[in-house]
Formats: sequence, structure tokens, C-alpha cells
Amino acid sequence: MLEEIYGHVLRRNAGEREFHQAVREVLESLPVVLERRPELCQASLVERLVEPERQLMFRVPWTDDDGHVHVNRGFRVEFNSALGPYKGGLRFHPSVNLDIVKFLGFEQTFKNALTGMPIGGGKGGSDFDPKGRSDDEVMRFCQSFMTELYRHLGEHTDVPAGDTGVGAREIGYLFGQYRRITNRYEAGVLTGKGIGWGGSHARPEATGYGLVAFTAEMLRTRGEELDGMRVVVSGSGNVAIHAAEKAEQLGATVVACSDSGGCVLDEKGLDLDLLKQVKLVDRERLDVYAERRGSAATYRADGRVWDIPCDVALPSATQNELDEDAARTLIGNGVRVVAEGANMPTTPEAVRALREAGVLFAPGKAANAGGVATSALEMQQNASRVTWSFETTEDRLSEIMRHIHDTCYETADRYGRPGDYVAGANIAGFELVGDAMLAQGVI
Ligand code: GLU
Repeated sequence: MLEEIYGHVLRRNAGEREFHQAVREVLESLPVVLERRPELCQASLVERLVEPERQLMFRVPWTDDDGHVHVNRGFRVEFNSALGPYKGGLRFHPSVNLDIVKFLGFEQTFKNALTGMPIGGGKGGSDFDPKGRSDDEVMRFCQSFMTELYRHLGEHTDVPAGDTGVGAREIGYLFGQYRRITNRYEAGVLTGKGIGWGGSHARPEATGYGLVAFTAEMLRTRGEELDGMRVVVSGSGNVAIHAAEKAEQLGATVVACSDSGGCVLDEKGLDLDLLKQVKLVDRERLDVYAERRGSAATYRADGRVWDIPCDVALPSATQNELDEDAARTLIGNGVRVVAEGANMPTTPEAVRALREAGVLFAPGKAANAGGVATSALEMQQNASRVTWSFETTEDRLSEIMRHIHDTCYETADRYGRPGDYVAGANIAGFELVGDAMLAQGVI
């Protein structure tokens, strides 16, 4: 039956390779659960689960600083709302298309379920490239994007946040336009807001911090800890930087990170204040970091962090960035844990190689769920019109990450796949969403 469903997904979504990959990975985990719980095959449950509830595509025209008009494409895929309002980020990057947004929305549905919070799954974005654009241009783009999207949003309907290319600046412009059009101060309609106007403490840190908390839990199952370990992260955005920060706090040394131009090796450990300044404030490239850091760091144009020996690798840049060749290099260099900070950064062949070599591997839908979980905490604060302290919020985040880890670990065990976090995450996420869908009838 699952083969047939997958064949249908291939035909109906022709050419959408990332979406196929994400669906396949989940379907491959399901035979054991469908055998034990045949009720989850009823009423075409799996067929409904792989079909988004709604897919929106729209034109986004905007004017650059020289007066030229550009036309981008906007997307929002509202994938599944069985557990709560659609929830998931917006990605602004030239690679964004319907395929990418669908794969991300599908993954998000399971990720959000695993958090145990009342949020459904969705994702959106645009092929707009913010790189090199002025603040004014980004603002005009965001306003145009929201002028179309606002009608589909609402704190009980669909709640976007950031993703690649969308941070506090963009969320500010998007929120301002939503507020202006609707004449409502509906704080819970977007998450990742600034702390002075409805945002949550620890939201910027949450994905990276949560990723490291999850990694620490995995190590704990083998009686090991992060203290003293050598770590590499790929990427140098919000997730990578905050993962590096938390890993350092726990006593690890983070020796490398990357961007689309190359990677930087910093044997004594990355200078995180400098990295934040260069990447998050100045919006510069990593060669600028290496230049300002002086002799401590080496920049390798086109280099990849996977070639640098490490105990822990945290792929936190983008989908399919860690292939089988990279996995074999990591294994050869003695890697112990790979945990995904990005969404689906490891190819299926690489996952297989890592698992066969006995490396602990955590899929993004479990390991990077701390971001969206803290978004749900932001919604909770907005609904009750309070702001928690950084410590309270981080404590809640740590609790949630432990819960996700234990759910995946125990589910994998229960279904005869001990230590297989991919199976554990897929099965647990499927049971949570599937049970809710069955209870709510054929819709
Ligand atoms: N884009 C993030 C993710 O991939 C966060 C989504 C959110 O906070 O809604 O989970």
C-alpha cells in the first residue's frame, strides 16, 4: 500500500525531488507502525497526510532603490492543521519554489507534532534574494508580500515565522504591514518578533540551543558528554551561531563553520562575538571574519567543514548539503554524532552510511524543533499578554527538547529499532498527527 501511495505522490507532484525525498523518508518508517496499528491505514489517512490542505502561490511586485520594478513569486503551503493553526517559517532565497516549500511544510508537520505543542504544519517564502538589498528594498518587498498573504493568516489560522533569509528585520516589516492592513494588534500572528513588541526571550537562540540540548541527550544515552568534544557546524546563520554558542557553554570547542563561499577553521574555537558582528550585524561573508580574526583562523574558499576532523558535526545550512562522500570522510575521522540543525541537510545515502557506521544521527524534525517550540511559547505569551524571563523560557525549551529526545528514543525502542532516531521521530510524529486526523473525520 505504501509503495502505491508513494507512486501516486511521484506522479501527482512530478519533478518535486525534495518533496519526494521527504515523503519517502517518512513512508519508509511506517510499515512497522501500520502493522501494529492497522486503524492508522483507515479512511485513506496516509494519502491525506501527503497532500497539503492548501497551497498558495502569488505574485510579489516591488520597486528597487533605482525605481525598477521586480516580480517575485510568493508561497505558503498550509500542510496540516489537525493539531493547531498552521505554523512554520518563511524562507527568502533564490532557490525557493513550490517543491522546496512543500518538503519543508511536510517536515514541519511532524516536527511540530513532536514538540507536543498545539501547532499544525506550514511553510512559505519567496524566491526573493535579500542579499545585497538595502533595508528599504527589503521593507518594500515584505510589505508587498504581506499585502497578499495577510488574508490567509491569523493567530488561530496560520502563524508564520522566520527561516533562511528571514530574521527579526523582515518579521518587523511583515508584522507592521499586517497590523496596518487589518487594523488589529494581533501579536500571535507572527513569531520571532522583537522583544519590545511581543517577541519572546530566547527565540533567536532557540533552534541552535535546542539542537545542542538534543545532541547532549543523545550522548548521554552512551554515557558521554559534550565537554571536551570538538565540534564543526555548517552554515553561519542564526542556527549555526547559536548552536556554536551553546556547545561552547557546555565545554566543547567549535572549530569550524561555513557559508556559501567557503569555510573557516579556527583551531582554538570560533570567536562568537566577532562572528555575530560579521554575519548577523554587518551581513558580511566569512572571509571578512577570517580577515578580522587574524592568524588564529584560516579561510578556505569553497572548502567544506566535513573535511575537518571532529567528534560532533551539526549540519545547519541547507537541504542535502551533507552527501555520502562527506559522511564517509566524517566517519573516517571518527565522528560520534551528527545532528541536523537545518531541515533535511543530510542525503538519504549519507544517513544510511552514518547509521551503518554506528554514528548517532538525529533528523532535523526532532533535533531542530527547539525553534518552532519556542515560537509556540511566544504564542502562549502573546495569548496571555505576558513576557517570561530568558531563564524561564530557556528552561521550558530544555524541557521540551528532553521530551522530544525521549519520545523519539522510546518510540524507536518500542517499534524494535533501538537507537534509530529517524524511525523514532517519523513514527512518533505520524502517530500524533494520524490519531488527531482520524478523530476529526474525513476532511
Ligand atoms: N523555520 C523554523 C523551522 O524550520 C522555525 C519555524 C517557526 O518558528 O514557526 O522550524
